[in-house]
Amino acid sequence: MTPDRLQYDLYRIAAPMVAIALGFLLAASLRAGRRHRPEARIYSVYTAATIGYLASNSLEICSTGIQAAMFWSRLIYLFIGFLPIIWMEFCLRFTRAGRGMNKAVMAALVLIPLSTLVVIFTDGLQPLMWPSITWVSQDPYLISVRQLGPWFVVYAAYAYALYLVGAFIVVRAFILYRQYYRRQAVFIIAAITVPLLASMNYVFKLVPGLVKDFTPLGYAAASALLYAGLFRRDLFACSPVARSLVVERMREGLLVLDRNANILDANPVALEILGLAEADLGRPLGGLPATCREEAGTAQAEDNGAAGAGSGATEAGSGDSASGKHACLHARQAVVEALEMASPREFFLLRGSEPRWYRAEAIGLGMGAEGSLVTIQDQTETKVLLNRIAELASTDELTRLPNRRSFMREAARELSRAQRHGLKLAVAMFDLDRFKLINDTYGHHTGDVALQAFGRILIEESRGEDFAGRIGGEEFAMVFVGAEGGGAYTFCERIRARLELTEILDEGGQRVKATVSVGYALLGRDQVDVEVLLSRADKALYAAKEKGRNRVEVWEPEDPLSTGAPDL
Ligand code: GH3
Ligand code: MG
Ligand code: MG
Repeated sequence: MTPDRLQYDLYRIAAPMVAIALGFLLAASLRAGRRHRPEARIYSVYTAATIGYLASNSLEICSTGIQAAMFWSRLIYLFIGFLPIIWMEFCLRFTRAGRGMNKAVMAALVLIPLSTLVVIFTDGLQPLMWPSITWVSQDPYLISVRQLGPWFVVYAAYAYALYLVGAFIVVRAFILYRQYYRRQAVFIIAAITVPLLASMNYVFKLVPGLVKDFTPLGYAAASALLYAGLFRRDLFACSPVARSLVVERMREGLLVLDRNANILDANPVALEILGLAEADLGRPLGGLPATCREEAGTAQAEDNGAAGAGSGATEAGSGDSASGKHACLHARQAVVEALEMASPREFFLLRGSEPRWYRAEAIGLGMGAEGSLVTIQDQTETKVLLNRIAELASTDELTRLPNRRSFMREAARELSRAQRHGLKLAVAMFDLDRFKLINDTYGHHTGDVALQAFGRILIEESRGEDFAGRIGGEEFAMVFVGAEGGGAYTFCERIRARLELTEILDEGGQRVKATVSVGYALLGRDQVDVEVLLSRADKALYAAKEKGRNRVEVWEPEDPLSTGAPDL
């Protein structure tokens, strides 16, 4: 028996047994509980195609006539032609959380095996695949010796390219995320190496004397290796797929960027926030055109914490406003800044009419991989709570006016602004007259109603940048921005008169009269702080009380030349 004959005999015995074994693996991979796994399904397709390949190849070598042998040798391409695409799909699903190939790319790739089928089933008409085939009888086998034509080169380039790119994707993922992939990637890389070596040996005649094409057995071995990797070692339990599913479904956005800020991967939340499509993967984050869903949506940075509450809760990246820009461009800019500055950035987007706060943070991938992982956390709930707490902490519950602490902070800010720019400013203090008597006569609750009524008057009388606060029990203060002597007096007098004329009705329908005494001080040339200015207004208030209440008094310096006489 010649060595060639022995190889064919061995193959003829082994191939059906291997095909049956693969049938079992196929059935096992389709078992309930496995079917839904993204790589499990593609594994089943791979194994079915390999069984088809093995069967056609066995039938080819068992054929006794040239016609039958030719038919089976052509049919092989029905299976083997699509295996590179199936392999590629497997590698992508394995490394990208079950996401496979782009449909358009898949359709374009499928053209090659389809054309190959057309070429080989019409090979009597053209010499593209096999310009000549010589049949050698090697009893009992009919063996064909084929000259390879130009289409074979196209087909081989397509097949090897997809196998190598698929292997590259797995190796790269293995290197980048070593701690997640561990052994399953080793199985997959072994699975590609075996059929690739067998095929290359056949095409390039690497091992002298090995004439039979053992590639089908190589594919079968690959199927067994993949099975072991995917199911036997229970690698799904902590596999990248499980992890990836978590990544896919988590509420945070996750983005993997290489060192040039090209997007390597992004989960659906990140795609949504940044207005990206899957087709943008591999492209630079900064240079992409706006494809935001909310085209008309504006984005702006939060610039004052809780609205009106001055919570001071702003953080990095919150100072700039991006009104009018597309929301996703603003989000991308925040991510780029987080990367460049290596510090978290906060940003604010209007999604529809709903405001949402996000925080983008970049961390280096480490493990020898140059790139970054960016997390985008939705901070809206925390922010809303913080804003609410800040609002509660700075607002007087009864009158809804700023409380003492918040008023003093705001007043200090306005005062220093006025001093910096040489602006006019006045501070007034209000104290309700004989309030104890109101409480004693009508009850504490009626007193509260009166305080609320006065609070409303202050709010209504505040112009533009003026603001008021409740700084004590029945004591209020107000800052008049830009007010000169005469103006400040007019404002205070108007407030006093309004309270005098206001009919306060308590819950029992009783009419209560209340009046207020007012003292104010104007900002002079001397650099006083807000406490000093308030104490001057308080002195004037004391004078108003002394002079009979329900009146307005201004603070006058004892020596107008040496103290803070206002520039009138
Ligand atoms: P004056 O004209 O000299 O200011 O006399 P007054 O009675 O207003 O002054 P006094 O400081 O003696 O009394 C202030 C009163 O204000 C005493 C206190 O019970 C009352 N008060 C303080 N806070 C509240 C409050 O939140 N609600 C009510 N109803 N009363 C309050
Ligand atoms: Mg008082
Ligand atoms: Mg009082």
